[in-house]
Amino acid sequence: MKLLVNFSKKAGQKPIIAQVVKDTGVLINVERAIIDSSEGEALIDIPDESCKIIKEKLASLGATVRVLEHGIILDETECVDCGACVSVCPHEVFYFDDQWAIRVREGRCVLCGRCMDACPHHALYHKDEF
Ligand code: SF4
Ligand code: SF4
Repeated sequence: MKLLVNFSKKAGQKPIIAQVVKDTGVLINVERAIIDSSEGEALIDIPDESCKIIKEKLASLGATVRVLEHGIILDETECVDCGACVSVCPHEVFYFDDQWAIRVREGRCVLCGRCMDACPHHALYHKDEF
């Protein structure tokens, strides 16, 4: 299960993800993180059964948490199979099938948004704003 976590970085505060791992014992896979001196956003992947405890722990540390149930979604009616998304995706989400039509491995997506910017036909979208 993927969670999008937003948090502020207070001076002296321990790294929030590391703190959650330490306190819960649950291993967290950080798929994407943007952190500056004052705030951060991280996309994490956790076991489904640990969702409740991780969400509660993050909330207790002041983070806001959103469950992301989907990766990027392809609108096949708009796609022209140009392949622009294939080259920009860092996680090999897109591939051509044997008919040279674009296909999506949704579970690999880390919602970086690069393919949405690159698609000339606006054929890619996400169900949640991010
Ligand atoms: S960039 Fe857009 S139009 Fe081109 S293959 Fe990808 S989804 Fe289809
Ligand atoms: S959002 Fe990023 S990881 Fe997901 S399919 Fe697009 S380029 Fe790949």
